[in-house]
Amino acid sequence: MTTNRARVIGMLGGMSWESSAQYYRLANELVRERLGGLHSARVLLASVDFADIEALQAAGQWDEAGKVLAEAAKGLEAGGAELLLICTNTMHKVADRVQAAIHIPLLHLADATAQAIIRAGLGTVGLLGTAFTMEQNFYRDRLASHGLTVLVPSADDRADVHRIIYDELCQGLLHEESRQIYRDVISRLAEAGADGVVLGCTEIELLISAADSQVPVFPTTRLHVEAAVDASLGAPART
Ligand code: GLU
Repeated sequence: MTTNRARVIGMLGGMSWESSAQYYRLANELVRERLGGLHSARVLLASVDFADIEALQAAGQWDEAGKVLAEAAKGLEAGGAELLLICTNTMHKVADRVQAAIHIPLLHLADATAQAIIRAGLGTVGLLGTAFTMEQNFYRDRLASHGLTVLVPSADDRADVHRIIYDELCQGLLHEESRQIYRDVISRLAEAGADGVVLGCTEIELLISAADSQVPVFPTTRLHVEAAVDASLGAPART
């Protein structure tokens, strides 16, 4: 018997749980692929009530939201988590605050994504996500710090992308009409010069896959989980 001595992955989820469920499934699938048999991922999940977090986002109360997530992260660390994932792109706005509250490493979603883009040999990407992610600096700058150029959709397209995330994807609703809207937005980003598109909201890959895009897509939930499983199992760096 091989004992799984992997480091315990702490997941800060619930934002929304639709994507947290994917985090959990993907982590277990990847560990099974890597270790075989009945092996599964060593995971601790803290899941917040997204209605509370969304209200704080909408009110611009990021300090308060950061406090809630920092407390949850401390709980995960106390429970035995050895590395931490914030299972949403948007809430990386408070990543520094969360990291400052704990001693275990926070594996930043934009870093994992940027590394995948660089491995693919691309330099200019379109970014889809919430309005916070597309319009504020915290996420774009983190991608840019890896030498990437980041394009965002037009104001109208951003409004559609944002609305579909909160009104549909975070509520488990997958509509063909919305898939077509995303396809069109991706086409316009590609026409504007994007060589790839970051699915920079953890629910988007529930709706959109590589088949919906003429340029490579970077699904952030999958990329984040891959990086976490690598870190958990002590895998060699991806090339
Ligand atoms: N899961 C989404 C993201 O990755 C949006 C939900 C949220 O605002 O946290 O940004």
